[in-house]
Amino acid sequence: FDRRIFNFAAGPATLPEEVLKQAAAEMLNWQGLGASVMEVSHRGKEFMALYEEVLQDLRTLMEIPDSYEILMLQGGGLGQNAAIPMNLMPLAKNGPKADFLVTGVWSEKSYKEAEKYGVAHLAASSAAEKFNTIPARSTWQLSDDAAYVHYCANETIGGVEFPDVPDVNGKLLVADISSNILSREIDITKCGVWFGGAQKNIGPSGVTIVIVRKDLMGHSMKITPSIWDWSKQAATDSMLNTPPTFSIYMAGLGFKWLLKQGGVKAIEKRNLEKADLLYNFLDQSSLYENRVTKEYRSRMNVTFFLKNENLNAQFLEQSNAAGLVALRGHKAAGGMRASIYNAMPLEGVKALVEFMRDFERRA
Ligand code: PMP
Repeated sequence: FDRRIFNFAAGPATLPEEVLKQAAAEMLNWQGLGASVMEVSHRGKEFMALYEEVLQDLRTLMEIPDSYEILMLQGGGLGQNAAIPMNLMPLAKNGPKADFLVTGVWSEKSYKEAEKYGVAHLAASSAAEKFNTIPARSTWQLSDDAAYVHYCANETIGGVEFPDVPDVNGKLLVADISSNILSREIDITKCGVWFGGAQKNIGPSGVTIVIVRKDLMGHSMKITPSIWDWSKQAATDSMLNTPPTFSIYMAGLGFKWLLKQGGVKAIEKRNLEKADLLYNFLDQSSLYENRVTKEYRSRMNVTFFLKNENLNAQFLEQSNAAGLVALRGHKAAGGMRASIYNAMPLEGVKALVEFMRDFERRA
């Protein structure tokens, strides 16, 4: 390509051009230090000041109250799949235990990982429905003695999203927001822990954001690796080990960009517009279909299938040639997937719909 494409990758994903341009402009000489941000000490006053600002901007964007700590860690969402049970399961009254709502590949991974640390109870699962839906609330079997309930707010592979924070009778909730963080307004106080990597809606990979209610720290199992012990990380500004400084800097540029767009409320409106455009098109098409229960369709990851699967290769080849890239679905789901995170402009979705309409006409 001799130009920037519309990149529908699920993560790492497209970033705002402005953010990339600013990073490029500051690459050789950040803040007059004669070095890039990735070449200076994380303990220097310039980086520490940047770090404070990054946290403050996230606090503003997500309206995070002081009763919650923001940690910026490494190890990704998968790292937290181990860290969460190690930090929280000891809160259960009859031995380590947690409940899981399994609505796709990612919550299933969380559930399996937790089994290493205690009792992981499957409270609900849509596996039998091929992860195309969320089980009805009346069927959930929540335990009385679990330390917390884990759910994945947006299943990136299936394209299934909880429309609201689930009602779990006041039990402690943990939310995986890897693929919809900052895409819609949320009430932070509804969960004890929110976590996710930066590589979809924020910046490059390398930094994992964990927002944890302060009273939930300090109860970890003895075996917890220090770098994943939330209270130890909180006590050292998430700098128990060398933090991913460049990823944090880039996340900071992402937060500034989002603030300039009008914040989460404004981006949520645009995200809805983009998702509606695509789903409305899919629903009237005779070639494409989305298989997710309407009320649980993801605004971030729009999955679809060509009813004539023989056309898949052609579809991918031609869309790619048109500069509409990375539409192949995850191998666990098959079909196609358009990830349309915050940084995907409306024009990108319009271009995709135009291409798909034209492809259908020619098919
Ligand atoms: N949870 C969800 C919903 C995800 O989409 C992903 C990554 N695609 C993960 C967890 C795992 O995150 P990481 O790769 O940062 O470990």
